[in-house]
Amino acid sequence: MGCFARERTIFCFLAPFSAYNPQDRLRFMKSGGMKAVGVFPGKRAVDLVSHAPPQILSQAQVKIRTLDVGICGTDREICSFAYGTPPNGSDYLVLGHEALGEVVEIGSGAKQFKVGDLVVPSVRRPCDHSDCSPCRADRQDFCSTGDFTERGIKMTHGYMTEYFVEEEKFLTPVPRELRDVAVLVEPLTVAEKALDQVWKVQERLPWGANGEGKTAVVLGAGPVGILGAMALLVRGFRTFVYSRSAAPNPKSELVNSIGARYVSSETVPLEKFGIQTGPVDLVYEAVGVASISFDLLKILGLNGAFVFTGIPPHKPAIPIAADSLMRDMVLKNQVLIGTDNADAAAFATAIRDLGIFKQRWPDALRAVITGRYRFEDYHELLVGKNKGIKNVISVA
Ligand SMILES: [Zn+2]
Ligand SMILES: [Zn+2]
Repeated sequence: MGCFARERTIFCFLAPFSAYNPQDRLRFMKSGGMKAVGVFPGKRAVDLVSHAPPQILSQAQVKIRTLDVGICGTDREICSFAYGTPPNGSDYLVLGHEALGEVVEIGSGAKQFKVGDLVVPSVRRPCDHSDCSPCRADRQDFCSTGDFTERGIKMTHGYMTEYFVEEEKFLTPVPRELRDVAVLVEPLTVAEKALDQVWKVQERLPWGANGEGKTAVVLGAGPVGILGAMALLVRGFRTFVYSRSAAPNPKSELVNSIGARYVSSETVPLEKFGIQTGPVDLVYEAVGVASISFDLLKILGLNGAFVFTGIPPHKPAIPIAADSLMRDMVLKNQVLIGTDNADAAAFATAIRDLGIFKQRWPDALRAVITGRYRFEDYHELLVGKNKGIKNVISVA
């Protein structure tokens, strides 16, 4: 699992942070542990915890001071206890999978980094099976056993704490000039991996690995959708963003300011939207809602590709026009792609693209980060009403 945008609110019944605050401070002072946000699935609680400081245990490891941690729909779902698994032997999972950090200590065998370097860690770690060829080839994003772990999501602690230790191969260096926006790298890797998959699939026809002369639709205007729209624009796609909220609103203004076109599904029904777009070459789905996604398939053009990145919650079955969709898929040579997680190349491309975004749209890129908050604001950010685009906890 990676990041996904979901325009819905998750309700959770927990005491406000202030109820925990004094005891927690006392606990930190007594234990000398680091502060961390822990999710206790067994107790159905989200709480500040005193977490043991990490140590470098192997030569290839690097110790990192956390600077920024981004919050997304995945974190909020984990805090609703829909999923999220602590490591074996721990009753809590330290949350957080979108991070930027600064190297503070280096293992004797780590060659790629020096103290003071900025790094972004990836999320997924390989399974242990010797016959999992993707994991053995550092492509755990395609793990074939399902026994991978994910930092801050599945069986490995995340980054919503003060320090973490990681093998250098799971870190990507970040130029200092991207310090203020590099927490957006991980959500941008969703689009980077999706585009990599699209180029590979479209090698079946003379498409070329760019968007010149082609039309793309982004479904959803959350952080994954907006960053995806930026990536599509950089590659030359004529780009539409189709999202629910009526315009104008802060997201529509941001989208229009970068040269994409925001269209509200509330005011422009799909048929009219399809007339505006003309035949669509690529749909980048970033909303996690099946009904609107399958509807949008109707405007996918000849040889078009449709990429799903959102993860809908389990819901009752809905009717879809299966015969006409299947008919179109065959007669129009269409492809549906599901994509999850990202490889090291997607992280490197995301950092390169973020540099391009920052040069081209400095204000819009900064506006993707709605707010920066203190560590102690975690409770409202994780279980309160979902506000803005991307909220970030500044740890240091
Ligand atoms: Zn995320
Ligand atoms: Zn594997």
